[in-house]
Amino acid sequence: MLRNPHPLRQQGWGGCQTNMGVNGYLELRDLKLSIPMRGRARTWGKPTTCTIFLSNNKWYASITVNCVPERQTGTEAIGLDFGCKVAIATSNGEFIEAPKFQAKAAQKVKQLSKQLRRKRRPEKRKTRASRRWLQAQTLISKVRRKVANQRHDWSHKVAAQIVSSNSLVATEKLNLKDMTRKGKGKRKRQKAGLNRSLLDVAIGMTKDAIKYKVIEAGGVYLEAPTQKLKPTQRCVKCWQTTKKTLSGSVHICKHCEHQEDRDINAAQVMLTWARGQELSSLDVEPPSSTNCGNMRQLGALKRQKT
Ligand SMILES: [Zn+2]
Repeated sequence: MLRNPHPLRQQGWGGCQTNMGVNGYLELRDLKLSIPMRGRARTWGKPTTCTIFLSNNKWYASITVNCVPERQTGTEAIGLDFGCKVAIATSNGEFIEAPKFQAKAAQKVKQLSKQLRRKRRPEKRKTRASRRWLQAQTLISKVRRKVANQRHDWSHKVAAQIVSSNSLVATEKLNLKDMTRKGKGKRKRQKAGLNRSLLDVAIGMTKDAIKYKVIEAGGVYLEAPTQKLKPTQRCVKCWQTTKKTLSGSVHICKHCEHQEDRDINAAQVMLTWARGQELSSLDVEPPSSTNCGNMRQLGALKRQKT
């Protein structure tokens, strides 16, 4: 069955093998069958692990490879400000809209949850879930999975686009755990809504994606200390701070009367700060050989070593 025998087979490596990461076949030794594969790895290397797992009624094979990732990048520099109304504001004066996948799927989840409530749910040692309950549950997890996939896809696309032309990326340090902490008292419901929209943008995921992509491309990724720099209050023209309330969306400097959108000004401040950092003092390393693949597997690899 195997169309392209791979040298790894002769080495007797593991339980599976592939065809250089481009489609090809996966052979499971114990099952004695070759499974045609779809998709391709961006960079291929020596496979180290292969995990077969079932997720949402679909089977996946995840392969980690030891490789030197390559990525093209431009020579420009950019500052990025993350928010919830507009997902990202750049120092070039552009806005990247938040896709709101969660908000769009909320209606559907609500509808399905209602159906779920009307079916017999499992109770400990008393009753088993009805077939219909299980079916409804599967439908809900399908919608949730789709939202997660969409968000993941969006994060990586945006990050790849940003990194493709910028080799210096400046953002600010954000404490997402504190930012999305549960609200108390009167503001509880309001805060819950804000948290939902903050989490829907997946700031953390997008930032992480940008970070590793920039480093992979041999560029520089810098995070400004928010407390010290105060990018939302500082003016990019005269470097003085103007106190602001959360509601105002325009930056008007009281020292030099410079006017700019609040988020764009913040992004520009971050970029100026990053340019001022002495680049030689930063450790700019060329990307070394790393393990690429599924996050869960990489975590397992790390644990093995320690
Ligand atoms: Zn000013």
